[in-house]
Amino acid sequence: MRRVLRAPLTLLLVALAAFPAAAAPAGHTAGLVARDVRAHEEARARVEDLREADAPPGEVRDAERHRMDVRSRLWDLLWAVERGLGDPVAVDPAGRAGHCPLGRRSTPPPDAGEDDAWAAPTTGYRLTAGYAERGRHWKHRHTGQDFAVGSGTPVRAVGPGTVRVTTCGDGFGNQVIVRHRDGYFTQYAHLSRIDVRKGQKVRAGQLLGLSGATGNVTGPHLHFEVRITPYIGSAVPPLPWLARKGVHPEQ
Ligand SMILES: [Zn+2]
Repeated sequence: MRRVLRAPLTLLLVALAAFPAAAAPAGHTAGLVARDVRAHEEARARVEDLREADAPPGEVRDAERHRMDVRSRLWDLLWAVERGLGDPVAVDPAGRAGHCPLGRRSTPPPDAGEDDAWAAPTTGYRLTAGYAERGRHWKHRHTGQDFAVGSGTPVRAVGPGTVRVTTCGDGFGNQVIVRHRDGYFTQYAHLSRIDVRKGQKVRAGQLLGLSGATGNVTGPHLHFEVRITPYIGSAVPPLPWLARKGVHPEQ
């Protein structure tokens, strides 16, 4: 697996020793992760500012290298922690050995069209729980944006990318994670059906599956998340990220 090769062995061993399975990440680690997520977003903004200002290419390159370093450190840390905790995205990206109890369509869904404009992940929704809200259903703050929709509503890729994983069995139920060209990942959780496979390229607006109420939920909705890595813990505020892509989900 690529992550094993990328993660320095010492860091991995230290992280695994520090966070055995079933243990919640220690406050210290949560602090490190939060610091790196913030540092990455600051580094990204700096790269964008430099590009906007037509800064010398060397300066842009250095800023971009710094952003990638921060991301790489965060990725290694989260992979080790999430693997220790049994997160299916880290443990078994194929989705519990491919035994998700899902009706998957055998034929790929049709393309959404020629237009690659970014889009909201679903339609006919009401925005409910937002990013970083606290609630009794979550151990910590809410890591995504909830779109209240009935079960069976089409869930679509917000932008072009590649399906990184489809998994089931944990609190997110049936979920799809897509990697986009800018290096960010989007997560679509609690689905009743998944219509894509790992490695599949998707267009903006392409059908990923149908909304549902699988996993840890009290009712049907789409949980949508934007992450710096594929792993839980690296989420950033999703609505500002969508706004940068020209998408403004209505309240
Ligand atoms: Zn949610």
